[in-house]
Amino acid sequence: MRSSLIAGNWKMNGSLESVTALVDGIKSGDRGNAELAVCPPSVFLMKIGGMLAESGIALGAQNVCQHAAGAYTGEIAASMLKEAGCRYAIVGHSERRSIYGESDAMVAARFQMAIESGIEPILCVGETLEERQQEKTIEVVNRQIDAALAASGIDAFAKAVIAYEPVWAIGTGQVATPEQAQDVHASIRQKLAGLNAEVADQLQILYGGSMNPGNAAELLAQPDIDGGLIGGASLKADDFLTICKAAS
Ligand code: PEP
Repeated sequence: MRSSLIAGNWKMNGSLESVTALVDGIKSGDRGNAELAVCPPSVFLMKIGGMLAESGIALGAQNVCQHAAGAYTGEIAASMLKEAGCRYAIVGHSERRSIYGESDAMVAARFQMAIESGIEPILCVGETLEERQQEKTIEVVNRQIDAALAASGIDAFAKAVIAYEPVWAIGTGQVATPEQAQDVHASIRQKLAGLNAEVADQLQILYGGSMNPGNAAELLAQPDIDGGLIGGASLKADDFLTICKAAS
């Protein structure tokens, strides 16, 4: 039986004051029994990590450098994320792929660095609207997963999470139907089961893309949807907690 994970991706939002209030709100509310994680902007990781101590809520980063250390201005090493208390690091978010030009190979290298360093990567995969209209969804998702498989192998997925995030649903208010999401999640699990049935069976596959308190329960009821990666709705403690309870 897989547990559910609800992870909040705060992206580049908030101030020290607002993120502190957000964490206080999440910690003090009723969150059900799903696993929770928050991924703050990196400058706030140490602060939020301290606030989360003993809370049972995990800390995640929004990316991780594919190199161990050195002249990589603006990047953050996995060892630094470990020191900050991160359990997770998002890799391959569509905003990193589309705005910052991160290729499948680069995302796979970041995935591998996380695995090597004992950080659980949350590998984001998903198609654009054009790719969906051309019926290329599964091809695109498989290509993105294959890059990580080539770099790290199937066993790495025992310590990783996949987030299916259709690009057309991220931050748009346009959510995938439960059936659309379930189809892709089932296809991902089936693909990985062909390599290692046990790893595929225990892998948490999250849905991301305009999940909110109104649509979470229906999405999370699907057999292969094991939680959510939440953007906008993770910035309000009440909305985030409602989604967490829907996953319980
Ligand atoms: C995301 O960016 O990972 C995301 C799912 O965003 P939103 O929930 O705002 O669509």
